[in-house]
Amino acid sequence: MRGMMMDRPLLVSGLIEYAARYHGDTEIVSRTIEGGIHRATYAGLEARAKRLAKALARLGIGSGDRVATLAWNGYRHLELYFGVSGMGAVCHTVNPRLFHDQLRYIVNHAEDAALFFDLTFLPLVEALAPDFRSVRHFVVMTDRAHMPAANVPNLLCYEELIAGEDADYVWPLLDENTASSLCYTSGTTGNPKGSLYSHRSTVLHAFGSCMADACAVSMFDTVCPAVPMFHANAWGVPYAAAMCGAKLALPGAQLDGKSLFELFESERVTLSLGVPTVWLGLLKYLDDNRLRLTTLKRTLIGGSAVPLAMIEAFEERYKVEVLHGWGMTEMSPIGTIGTLKPAVAARPAAERYRYKVKQGRGIFGVDLKVVDAAGRELPRDGVSRGELLVRGPWVISGYYNDAAASAAAFDKDGWFRTGDVVTIDAEGYIQVVDRSKDVIKSGGEWISSIDVENAAIGHPDIAEAAVIGIPHPRWGERPLLIIAAREGSRPDKKDILRYLAGKLAKWQLPDDIVIAPEIPHTATGKILKTRLREIYRHRRPPAAE
Ligand code: ADP
Repeated sequence: MRGMMMDRPLLVSGLIEYAARYHGDTEIVSRTIEGGIHRATYAGLEARAKRLAKALARLGIGSGDRVATLAWNGYRHLELYFGVSGMGAVCHTVNPRLFHDQLRYIVNHAEDAALFFDLTFLPLVEALAPDFRSVRHFVVMTDRAHMPAANVPNLLCYEELIAGEDADYVWPLLDENTASSLCYTSGTTGNPKGSLYSHRSTVLHAFGSCMADACAVSMFDTVCPAVPMFHANAWGVPYAAAMCGAKLALPGAQLDGKSLFELFESERVTLSLGVPTVWLGLLKYLDDNRLRLTTLKRTLIGGSAVPLAMIEAFEERYKVEVLHGWGMTEMSPIGTIGTLKPAVAARPAAERYRYKVKQGRGIFGVDLKVVDAAGRELPRDGVSRGELLVRGPWVISGYYNDAAASAAAFDKDGWFRTGDVVTIDAEGYIQVVDRSKDVIKSGGEWISSIDVENAAIGHPDIAEAAVIGIPHPRWGERPLLIIAAREGSRPDKKDILRYLAGKLAKWQLPDDIVIAPEIPHTATGKILKTRLREIYRHRRPPAAE
């Protein structure tokens, strides 16, 4: 027997429609590319998104067409999020930090029909436009007064484009399984791969993220996504914020500590989200200037493992609660969130931190299981390690137009293979041991590069730490620790080894340490281990020389 309930589709346009009607005067504040702060409201946002939808139709953009963006977190980008998806086209956020070859590959693979970009990326677009074979319209996201003299064919001005339309528009009633947005992984292994989200998956992910025991976004919050809108849809913040009418503070291109601090304080930000690298910058700025955060209550940190030292700094020194999250572009991206269960929250601080260092627990909507090499499920004992498999309504069912990548990504029952090696405990918390390709296999043991990095980052002279495996004649591989020194410090290798000896088992200790001028990062702010492996490929552990 079928239920007798209305079959109303879950649509991205429903989110902005709701926010405009019930939180119409709630603010969306943006740091602009042209300079200064811009203030808008949800009602204004919806009206402009509707004008944009009409303008897109005038340009010949229709259902299913991909509209690419190269843009920072700002109000026009937000209008594209809602206007493009709302009209039935696909909002394809492109990560401008990728290499030119990857950008060419992505835009051509997605066959984007139009490209909207911030002024910042004009040189990039000028260099690559001739190679973007499918792009018919290039639109710079600014007004007439700031239009650059540019070497791009038929360059359009965003404000002029939407000025030609009014907001008299009704969002189409789409099938909820229609594609709404597209985001490529950064392709640290092979070509980038596209995750094609649907309206349904996007709205369900927003529900999941807003849950009180997940990110608990509410209308009492001012949310600052310090994670770019080209990185897995800013972790879904734009949709979640609209769903509950939260105020947004969008940081534009300025993700440095000083700019974030000033935005947090002036807009009274209560919740922010970002990768550890961004928070390193903020913490340093706060420490150096002896500042306090007067409104920020929570920060969701993910994308890479959050070191204990960072959790302690936020919670002890700045009274900001850290939520450690784990996810992937392929998961919209939220997989797990580190809210403490009541029994864990009641334990002494040291134990609570032991849980906070873990990547979080499964939330409703994401099924998790850990399997061994033969695909057998491992016990939830917090010790057995294996690959994490996931499934759920906001996890991809395949990669966009990529049969080969899709074939390799799922097990026979349709679970998505994350490529992350984890443990899962009886409480449901996962701990990421490593990405399967980064784990160091030393003798019969596995060394987690994350464990060694997290231990090292606690040393006062170390700003950032990366660990890779290098060949060893006896052990197969041994860990090499590469560090970037904290400004003004002169790290001493022996001292660091002594420090680590108190924190790691003997066989986990790096045999050698390199003090590097800087540590390379991927386009999403993670340590670029492939590059480090290349740089140090001839390096051998001292004992083996
Ligand atoms: P990319 O493939 O570009 O790196 P993602 O941002 O989707 O794109 O990265 C997902 C991966 O990032 C995960 O598979 C995992 O390896 C890593 N990751 C994400 N969050 C965490 C975390 N909290 N701790 C450790 N690793 C994480």
